[in-house]
Amino acid sequence: MKAVMKVAPGIGNIELRDIDEPKMQAEQVKIKVHSAGICGTDLHIYKDEYPSFPPVVLGHEVAGEIIEISKEVDGYQIGDRVTTETYFSTCGICAYCRDGYTNLCLNRLSIGSGVNGGFTQYLVVPATNLHHLPENVSFEAGALTEPLACVVNGVLDKPPTVTPGDVAVIAGPGAIGLLTLQVVKSAGATVVTLGTDTDQQRFELAEQFGSDYTLNVQQQDPLDLIRQITNEGLGADIVYECSGAGPAAMQLIDLVRRQGRYVQVGLFGHAVSWDLDQLCYKELIATGSFASTPESWRRAIRLLADGTVQTMPLITDIFGVNDWRKAFDNFEQRNGIKTLLQPVG
Ligand SMILES: [Zn+2]
Ligand SMILES: [Zn+2]
Repeated sequence: MKAVMKVAPGIGNIELRDIDEPKMQAEQVKIKVHSAGICGTDLHIYKDEYPSFPPVVLGHEVAGEIIEISKEVDGYQIGDRVTTETYFSTCGICAYCRDGYTNLCLNRLSIGSGVNGGFTQYLVVPATNLHHLPENVSFEAGALTEPLACVVNGVLDKPPTVTPGDVAVIAGPGAIGLLTLQVVKSAGATVVTLGTDTDQQRFELAEQFGSDYTLNVQQQDPLDLIRQITNEGLGADIVYECSGAGPAAMQLIDLVRRQGRYVQVGLFGHAVSWDLDQLCYKELIATGSFASTPESWRRAIRLLADGTVQTMPLITDIFGVNDWRKAFDNFEQRNGIKTLLQPVG
């Protein structure tokens, strides 16, 4: 089967290779991949900014159909439509595993970086990682369950960062920003979405998803608007950095009020400068989150099932794995919002 693989450490080193179909082990299932999302992490792996263990098939945002089940597995049948959490193995004995934070396991291996992922035709994963796709969620839309679960983990699950009546600023209306926007709106906040000249199409989607204000920071200073719409002009209650761009991180520090909250959702891939004195002067709470937890997956699935969050409108491009290079270029040039790869054959 054709697979998009990181074949060696270093920058680049991604190739389409022909590999054997994976063999299923005990307590695993074999999934026929239907759709797999290209994520910022895949680009970071391309640029060697995120750890990977080549040779390895990339792709950790997967939706597909079960075609083989190990006999130990209950609760699933051949033909079930599923998506999968990303950890392939966690150690079960480190302090984080024991506390239930498997996303922070010191010895974790994830699909798409540590073990073979979904930019190919077939994938084996532990059955404990599976979630059924709701009936109203297509394979394409379901491939975005993983990024949604990451957003839920950072926004709602540890502990909730947003409460009704908050004024929230979201910087960066890409896929992660637009998922964050929908989750934050569902929690009852007023949302200001910030972007740049290249975000016109994204602004339209942001408005469709209920963003109360959208603003191009290259044309207008957002501070005036934030002063107008917040109590006594104090500033935003909470800011979400979803762009992974250094200037946005700095700007959000100006927009958040004293005793407000800064949440880092995007990844920069490198160190950025940040005025940490403001953490003291403003008594800010700054939080981040890594990947997702089973709890955040369950909540993500419910948000998709009841229509609170829509992922389909985010999908702008679908390529076959043969065209992975075009797909990666397209994604990197920010031509669309979310790009999927689908197996060929
Ligand atoms: Zn991802
Ligand atoms: Zn562990």
